[in-house]
Amino acid sequence: MRAVVVGSGAGSLASALRLRALGHEVDVLEACPDPGGRARTFSLHGHAFDAGPTVITAPWLFDELFELFGERRADSIEFLPCDPWYRLSYADGSEMDLVPSVERQEAQISKLSPQDAKNYRAFLEHSKRLYEVGYEELGDADFTSITSMLSMVPKLFKLGGFSTLWRHTARYFSDRRVRQAFSLQPLLVGGNPLSTTSIYGLIHAMERKGGIWFAKGGTSALIHHLIALGERHGIRFHYDHKVVSLTTDTSGKVTSVEAAHRGEQVTIPCDLAVWGGDPRGLYSTLGSQRLSLTERIRQRTVASSMGLYVLYFKTKRSYPNLAHHTIVLSERWEGLLNDIFKGTRLPKDPSLYLHRPAATDPSMRVNDGELFYVLAPVPHLGNYDGWKFDAPRFKDTVIKILEDRLMPGLSSELVFGEAVDPRYFRDALMSPLGAGFSIAPLLSQSAWFRFHNRMDRIPNLYLCGAGVHPGGGLPGVVTSAKVIERMVTRDFPSVHPYQASISEIAARSVA
Ligand SMILES: Cc1cc2nc3c(=O)[nH]c(=O)nc-3n(C[C@H](O)[C@H](O)[C@H](O)COP(=O)(O)OP(=O)(O)OC[C@H]3O[C@@H](n4cnc5c(N)ncnc54)[C@H](O)[C@@H]3O)c2cc1C
Repeated sequence: MRAVVVGSGAGSLASALRLRALGHEVDVLEACPDPGGRARTFSLHGHAFDAGPTVITAPWLFDELFELFGERRADSIEFLPCDPWYRLSYADGSEMDLVPSVERQEAQISKLSPQDAKNYRAFLEHSKRLYEVGYEELGDADFTSITSMLSMVPKLFKLGGFSTLWRHTARYFSDRRVRQAFSLQPLLVGGNPLSTTSIYGLIHAMERKGGIWFAKGGTSALIHHLIALGERHGIRFHYDHKVVSLTTDTSGKVTSVEAAHRGEQVTIPCDLAVWGGDPRGLYSTLGSQRLSLTERIRQRTVASSMGLYVLYFKTKRSYPNLAHHTIVLSERWEGLLNDIFKGTRLPKDPSLYLHRPAATDPSMRVNDGELFYVLAPVPHLGNYDGWKFDAPRFKDTVIKILEDRLMPGLSSELVFGEAVDPRYFRDALMSPLGAGFSIAPLLSQSAWFRFHNRMDRIPNLYLCGAGVHPGGGLPGVVTSAKVIERMVTRDFPSVHPYQASISEIAARSVA
């Protein structure tokens, strides 16, 4: 059977590998000239930068992809542990680290609030229960029918899953800074802590279970090793191939995928297809006549995640005292979050995430200075689209905050600084409204309410990636490939697994 996978983001790569292991012939079509989607590599002034993800949680999800082919991930790429996981820098000058050990974590919380430190273990226990239900039970569940979701409602209710994460933290912590530290995780997948369900508290338990890692050489090195793994096992990758249509037969099944490639149209016949771009892109490519009623409603009513501004820069000197991952929190919290998610202007006091890869990975050091990126959550383009005029001013704002709070003298130490904003996400990655993380992780957009992993009316067209269940972030999108694997196994029972065919070949050659 021949499968076409659209896009080469982490979800698409995981899907392509899983389909190949099931025994399908796989072609990957990517619109960009290079792979990775949000996790691609930017080459700036002779230096390679990770464009997007920098934090690896749930490392076993990547190990599994190599194991599908009898290989070990560690033989291809090393994961380096981050310690601290993150440093939180507050506007009042205080700091707290999120760290790998529970005892050290209590000591860190104690610096801000000894009383809250006593409640940390209870908070962690609750997070673990959220993880067991929200990720282990539901993460790779198939939510194409509403009954599959309804059966989980009592459990979620019992765990307080209908509350928001911000409110949930108040049950355990009274210090506002501690609450911020344990409720900002939804921001990492495009959600507002004030409105995202407390189920996202599971992220903390996931971090505690699997640690926080950095792929040696950067996340883009991991992407390149996943592609090399696929190529070793026969997956064909086609870059600069933007999918423009999908042909369906009279029974409603996809029979071919058409892509634009350097002014020509390329047609690839297929038995099944997986869409790893934004689901809204697929829905408009298909046209409303091929959508079910619920799909049409979802398409019209869905809420986007926020936008992102990311500045990649080099300094003349190094800043050895900075942690790998620092979150620079603004004095405002609720007001700033409202500005990001509902506001129509750029915030004057953004919170920032600073990435300093050389802190963990010596291979990322440069001789004549240091490489960084800094990220600010901003409104998506549906709420604010004045970047043409405001981008230079916003860059100055971001540099000034870093200079005042973390990196003295930064403006005179800069060698270069180049930024992307929501226009890049819209134009280069085809993300509607320039959303940084596809659609928002709201309860009303989770499980059955999220875009489904298979089209209602096109039974051999599957969806992976941040816009579908279980959601954004590397663990989410790589897990979406597991949902698809299960569906395809059921839908195409006669296909022989790839590994079985290798052993058949081996057995034949011995005979
Ligand atoms: C700046 C930033 C930092 C982040 N940091 C982290 C982090 O530290 N840890 C973490 O876990 N997550 C992080 N994330 C989130 C994570 O990167 C994403 O959730 C994940 O990479 C998205 O993967 P995806 O499979 O949805 O595909 P995407 O990466 O969104 O890629 C989709 C691909 O599909 C292609 N495509 C779309 N339409 C078509 C078409 N018609 N034809 C052909 N190709 C098409 C696009 O060109 C794109 O390459 C970060 C994201 C960003 C932007």
